[in-house]
This record gives sequence, structure tokens and C-alpha cells, in this order.
Amino acid sequence: MDLIDGNQIATAIIAELKAEVAAIGGRKPCLALVRVGEDPASISYVKKKEKTAAEIGVTSRVILPPVSITQAELFKLIDDLNADAAVDGILVQSPLPKHIDEVKVFRRVSPDKDVDGFNTINLGKVAQEDDTGFVACTPAGIMELLARSGVDLKGKHVVVLGRSLIVGKPIALLALQKRAGANGTVTVCHSATANLPAITRQADVLIAAIGRPEFVTAEMVKPGAVVIDVGVNRVPDPSKKTGYRLTGDVAFATVARQCAKITPVPGGVGPMTVAMLMKNTVKAFRMQALAARGG
Ligand code: NAP
Repeated sequence: MDLIDGNQIATAIIAELKAEVAAIGGRKPCLALVRVGEDPASISYVKKKEKTAAEIGVTSRVILPPVSITQAELFKLIDDLNADAAVDGILVQSPLPKHIDEVKVFRRVSPDKDVDGFNTINLGKVAQEDDTGFVACTPAGIMELLARSGVDLKGKHVVVLGRSLIVGKPIALLALQKRAGANGTVTVCHSATANLPAITRQADVLIAAIGRPEFVTAEMVKPGAVVIDVGVNRVPDPSKKTGYRLTGDVAFATVARQCAKITPVPGGVGPMTVAMLMKNTVKAFRMQALAARGG
């Protein structure tokens, strides 16, 4: 079994981006990070994004509205960032407080600055195989992990567990695309899927994104399959300083024994998500520079 090392692959991408940004004369790419309220997981995610941006030479602007911000006020904040020529990418950290409609907020971000790839237009561009858009960072990171680990999806049965807008649906569309590295035959499963193990056992490549700790067991995996574990679940563990341990959607210890390749949690898909956010930010910068030149 080969371990797909997301930390190592993300480090390589970050080094490539650092060299690319160093070669940019004048203003560097700028990423606006909007974090509403004090959700502990969001605090740590935004810190990580800020740190990686700094490492690459991308400027970050962190905006911290209080949890009491209204939807109208948040729209105004996003509108101002959309109009600000010094901002290339905008990320609104999820989850947002319950009184705010997250999907409407994602739609409010200009498609040209939507480095998270959650805007309707950018998801549509994935379906249309139009490279001028932004692919959501986690699915983009999965495709990059597969490519850099020598996994070609052509002719393979790819089974995706989960149909969320941020992972399941876009990764299914990407795997299905008619292009090098993709061309998979894709099945998407969800909570209403009947006889799930019979389907997952047919997968040459199994992508689990359901948010259920160690849901995928060895009996659900075909020997020799490639397994991508997107799940990040906090399981109570009094032996840890934090009081919890992180685990994926796959029962790693037993599944790893029989598959060809697998991503660990942590250290698999997670680091790729941040690397792809930076890649999208540099792309947004380049596209805006081109548009400013009338290209
Ligand atoms: P989500 O929006 O909650 O969607 C979960 C999906 O899984 C839904 O489509 C749901 O089906 C399906 N599902 C739930 N229980 C199921 C079951 N028992 N059998 C079959 N399908 C089931 O989750 P998400 O945002 O896609 O995230 C999924 C996981 O990935 C989470 O653990 C999250 O933390 C992690 N994640 C990691 C990263 C990263 O960077 N590593 C990024 C994003 C998410 P229905 O549609 O029928 O409800």
C-alpha cells in the first residue's frame, strides 16, 4: 500500500507558487479572508490560510465581523471587497451564523474573485469544462493529489460518497470531465442510496466525503482500490490534550491493509485544500491583471 502524502504534495505546490509570486513585479496577489464570529475551527482554518499566504508572498487582509452582523451588512462588506481593485480573491469562512444564508453569501462574491469556487457561475464552469473559472479547493486538491500520485481515472469506476456542493458534486463533475487524468465512470452515493457497500465494492477509486467517522470499512472496499478520505471528524479522546482526535470517513487501519493507495487523515486532502486556495488566488490575480490590460 502507498500512502498518498498530502503534506508533501502541498509543500511542492506551495514552493511552485512561491517562485511564481516572487517573479511578479509590483503589487502582489491579495486574498481577503472574512471570518464571522469566533468559531474555534474557523479561527484555526483562517490562521492556517494567513500563514500559508505569507509563506508564498500573497498579501492577506483578514476581516473579522462580529457574530451579530446582519446578512445585509455582510453583503455590503462583500460588495466593497468585490469593488476593491487591490483585492484579487475573497474567501468567506464557513460555517456562518445560523441567521445568515450561506449559499446567498457565496453567490454574492464576484465570480472573478471567488477563489473558494462556491459561486453558481464557477460550479457551472466546472460542468462546462471551462477553465476560466475557479474550481472549489477541496475537489481541485483531490484531482491534483491523484495526478501527482500517478492515478489516471480514465476507464476507472470512481465512486463518490457524498453529494455536497463543496465536495461531492464538484469532485464527481471533475472526475467525469473529458480530459487527461479524468474520464472516469462516476457513481455518486448519498444517504438515500440503497445497498451502499455493494456499490463501494465496485470502486477502483473511492472518494469518501460524508462526515461520518470511520464509516468506510474494509468490507466496503475492493482489494487494490485507491481510497481518498476527505472526512475530517473530531472524535472525543480524553487521552489527547485537545480532548479529541481527528479521524477521516475511512477506517484507515483496516482499509489501508488491502488498498493500493490511500490518503491519511490528517495529512491527506486537508493540506491540499489550502494549497489550492493559494493557487486560485494567484490565478485570480493573473486574470484581473489581464482584464485590466483589456485582455
Ligand atoms: P455535508 O455537506 O454534510 O455532506 C455530506 C454528504 O454525505 C451528503 O451528501 C450526505 O447525504 C452524505 N451522507 C451522510 N451520511 C451518509 C451515509 N450514512 N451514507 C451515505 N451518504 C451519507 O459534508 P461536506 O461538507 O461534503 O463534508 C464531508 C466531510 O469532508 C466532512 O467530514 C468535512 O469535515 C470534510 N471536509 C474536509 C475538507 C478538507 O479540506 N479536508 C473540506 C471540506 C469538507 P445527503 O445529501 O443525502 O444528506
